[in-house]
Formats: sequence, C-alpha cells, structure tokens
Amino acid sequence: HGSGRRARMVVEDSREALAAAAGCHPSEIIFTSGGTEADNLAVKGLYWSRRDADPRRTRILCSPIEHHAVLDTVQWLEKHEGATVVWLPVDHEGVVSEEAIRAELAAHADSTALLTVMWANNEVGTVQDIPAITALAHEYGVPVHTDAVQAFGSLPVNFRAAGVDTMAISGHKIGGPVGVGALVVGRAVKLTPVMHGGGQERDIRSGTLDTPGIAAFAAAAREATENLPAESARLRQLRDTLIAGVEREIPDAVLRGAREEQSGDTDRQGMPRRLPGNAHFTFPGCEGDSLLFLLDLAGVESSTGSACTAGVPRPSHVLLAMGLSETEARGAQRFSLGHTTTSADVDTLLNALPGAYERAKKAGMASHVSSIQTAGTGFTS
Ligand code: PLP
Repeated sequence: HGSGRRARMVVEDSREALAAAAGCHPSEIIFTSGGTEADNLAVKGLYWSRRDADPRRTRILCSPIEHHAVLDTVQWLEKHEGATVVWLPVDHEGVVSEEAIRAELAAHADSTALLTVMWANNEVGTVQDIPAITALAHEYGVPVHTDAVQAFGSLPVNFRAAGVDTMAISGHKIGGPVGVGALVVGRAVKLTPVMHGGGQERDIRSGTLDTPGIAAFAAAAREATENLPAESARLRQLRDTLIAGVEREIPDAVLRGAREEQSGDTDRQGMPRRLPGNAHFTFPGCEGDSLLFLLDLAGVESSTGSACTAGVPRPSHVLLAMGLSETEARGAQRFSLGHTTTSADVDTLLNALPGAYERAKKAGMASHVSSIQTAGTGFTS
C-alpha cells in the first residue's frame, strides 16, 4: 500500500545518500542499530563464513587498540568459537605495524579468517593507512574489516577506494541519531548473519527497518560529507591551537597519538595522521577522573577515554598497547572538537586547565574523585 511504498522510498533514498557519502554501491549498505552491531556482524559474520568454508581458518588478526565493539567480539570468538586472536603490535603513536601483518600472513595466511583494524582510533585519534593494510591482506587472500565509526564524516573515507571487505559506520558520531548505523558489505563478501528473522537487508540483518532513524542518519551523512573539507580544516586549526596552548600552559603534558607534521600537511593521498577533532594528552601526577571532574566544574566537558568497570577507573588498553606505563596512562584526558566547537571554547579550556591541573595533582593518584568532590563543593566527608 501507499504508506508502505512511501516508507520504502525513504529508506532507499537514504541508502543512496549514504552510499554516495561512503563511496559504495547502495546495495552494499546494510542498516544496523549502530556501530557496535555493525562491528559484531562483520567480525562474527566473516569469521563464521570463512571457517565454515575451511575449518583451518581460525586466526583473527586484530589491533589491540580497537574499540570494545571489536575487541570484546574477537575475545568472545576466542572463548566460545575456537578462534585464535593474534594481536598486531602498534608503535608509540598507535600506528599498526604493517611489517607484523606481512610476517603473520606470510606464515599463516591459510589459517587466517580475517584481519580487523580500525580506521581511526576513538581515544588518541590516530588514523591508520587502511588502503595499504587492505592491499597487503588481499595479497594473501584474507578479508579485512575496518571500524570507521570515528573516521566517517571526519576524514575522506571511501569504501571502494580503500578496498576493504566490510566497514562499520554509526549515526550518532556524525550528528545523526543514536541507535542507527550501517555495515558496508562488499557485494562479493560472504557473511554469516548474527540476527535471524524476516530476511531484510539481503538476509544479512533481519529486523524491521527504523525508517525515521535511517532518514536522519542519511541527512547527517549528506551534510557531513558536503562540508567535510571546510569543516575538517576549521577543526584542525582549532585543534592545533588547543594542542599548542596546552603545551604552553602545561609543559609536563604529553600529546598522545600521531602529530600532524604541519597543519593540513598529509603524506597519504589526503589522509591525515590524526582525526581533525581529537586532542589527547596525559597529565603526569594526576588521575584523569579528577581532572575531568574539575574541568567539568569550569564548564569544560572532556573524557578520560578509558572504560570504567564497576566504578573503578582502569588505564586505557589503547595507551597500554602504545607502551605507556599504568601510571602514565592514568592521567589521560581527551578533548574532542565538533561542529559546535568555537575558538572561545578552546580559550575556556586553556584558562581553566592550569588551575584544574594543580588541584588534580594535589588530589593525587589514589583517592581521586571523592577527595575532589569534597574540595570542589565545600562539603566535608
Ligand atoms: N567503534 C568506535 C571506534 C566508536 O568510537 C564507537 C562509539 O563510541 C563504536 C564503535 C560503537 O558505536 P555505537 O555507539 O553506534 O554502537
């Protein structure tokens, strides 16, 4: 009926817009509930289909700096599905070693199910050379998944040009709604579905489609990609002002992740080495949570970047993989810039930071949040 056809038209128009933004064919877009589901579908789906075709293929090559959506999925496959996870080394900037990938594939390509490396890291902003990594894996016939949740909408991401087999993207990272995303799946790629049901989305992802969410995701993608060159240049400039300001105000602070040689200077066909909207530092002698709390009091919202398990702050797995000690990793703070960020916001941070850092250092490493709360609010405990 007419209403059903109109809904379908909205979905198909959105699929076309997203395909144009991601550099793929519309039929390669598989809508999901977000980046987490897209990563699960890609990693489990590729693993099961490759292992079913040849039971020797149980190795998964994975970077140790992946988001938990990939990290926990490969660990689940290791625990429940007989996978062997090979952790690829990264350098101090968080760049995955291509030599290690080559050595691993040269020795074990026949028993490798897939390789998964994220396009850009959500904590330290490091951008990988995904086309080069993919070309390498394909030399050995191994499919590649990339988590492009952070890269899509911020970098010139093109599925076809990168050559990857599957690519995860998410709505809420580009100004769209939470709860919608997509896995881009190359037409020749075989994936075993995770969800079973009505056979929607080429039978790869069953379930009634979220038409309004999909329409909003497509609108955000259109806007983000149309404005990408200008907006990323604007953000890069703000980010570099922020980085220079933090290094001037707090000489002890250490920038983590890759440093762009010069603002806008790129050596890999227009692909920068760091996300335009990411600045990440470690601040020696303080707990990241304390700094976060004190900055929040001053109206600056930042992130420690690391997961908190049952209220206990744990050092970031990303920073540990980059070679930092647990103590160094605990003073981490990520500043993210987006389309609403202005130079006044950067000034607010730079004004608030020295005082917040001094107080955070006094609170020390051990009794972080409770002592800060006492100090910040005038309450005594
Ligand atoms: N991958 C990366 C790199 C992310 O930053 C995120 C979100 O924080 C995800 C995956 C998960 O995406 P979603 O929140 O849409 O499930």
